[in-house]
Amino acid sequence: MTTNATPVTLLGLGAMGSALATALLKAGHPVTLWNRTPGKADHLAGPGVTVAGTPDDAVRANDLIIVCLLDHASVHQTLDPLARELAGRTVINLTTTSPAQARELAAWAADAQITYLDGGIMAVPGMIGQPGASILYSGDAGAFEQHRALLEQWGASRYLGADAGLASLYDLALLAGMYVMFAGFMHGVAMVAPAGVPARDFAAMASPWLAAMAGELDGFATVIDGGDYTVAGQQSLDFSDLGDIVAASAEQGISTEVVDMVQRLIRRQIDAGHGSEGFARIVESIRAA
Ligand code: NAP
Repeated sequence: MTTNATPVTLLGLGAMGSALATALLKAGHPVTLWNRTPGKADHLAGPGVTVAGTPDDAVRANDLIIVCLLDHASVHQTLDPLARELAGRTVINLTTTSPAQARELAAWAADAQITYLDGGIMAVPGMIGQPGASILYSGDAGAFEQHRALLEQWGASRYLGADAGLASLYDLALLAGMYVMFAGFMHGVAMVAPAGVPARDFAAMASPWLAAMAGELDGFATVIDGGDYTVAGQQSLDFSDLGDIVAASAEQGISTEVVDMVQRLIRRQIDAGHGSEGFARIVESIRAA
């Protein structure tokens, strides 16, 4: 156990807060824990652990406060009455919020003389402290640098800029990609199910296929950043038309909503006369809401 590790206060011992606390304890950080419902720290009891009866006591114990609560409203409910105690301390908020909520909280913290760093956790609790976990940060650069070694105990740490909303913006943008990919997988599962294919068999094929297709993202990004969708070597929008996929889905008697959505983005560009241009052009359908 390291003896000079920064002592930390952690507010919130749900599934994620508990995982964060466990990793800090493993790295030798003394922790003061508070959770709204008592008893949630019981499984963490041991050397280096102090359980605070109130959030005030928890905050007064240390200069560094980690917050991992349910949502933005619960963060305000917990922190607002503590503004005076928090002044001069550092708050790192790992609660999922929208970019606007993160900026609002950063402004509230600045008014109260609190150093504020916002975080977006790109992991599930079981991944914390394991390879593959990453956490995005934005807000006070000094706080990020000062506590970087501690933050690395949870996962790869990336600082995105002084605008406190950036971590959340990237977090939600990455989750958008994940959920749409998951929906695409579910569509495939539903499509082959009437043919008697179990989801597990389909997943065994879809997983390496989607992993291989992720290799295309770099090329799309190069075209989008270059702003020229006519660059040679791209799959054209005409070629990408999802008509066959939509028809086959309907023939299987399933909803076509997922593929209809992509087809609409493609059709908008084809109808505007861009059918011979690259597939990456559908980003223009999305940009122009
Ligand atoms: P959780 O298990 O549901 O825990 C929620 C925590 O918030 C509990 O400690 C709960 O306290 C507390 N809480 C809720 N309302 C409160 C209020 N009004 N005042 C004070 N405390 C309140 O959720 P979690 O999985 O730990 O997630 C925590 C945050 O991490 C969320 O913002 C979540 O989006 C984010 N996150 C989670 C994951 C994940 O996979 N779990 C991944 C990335 C990010 P009680 O015990 O008293 O109810």
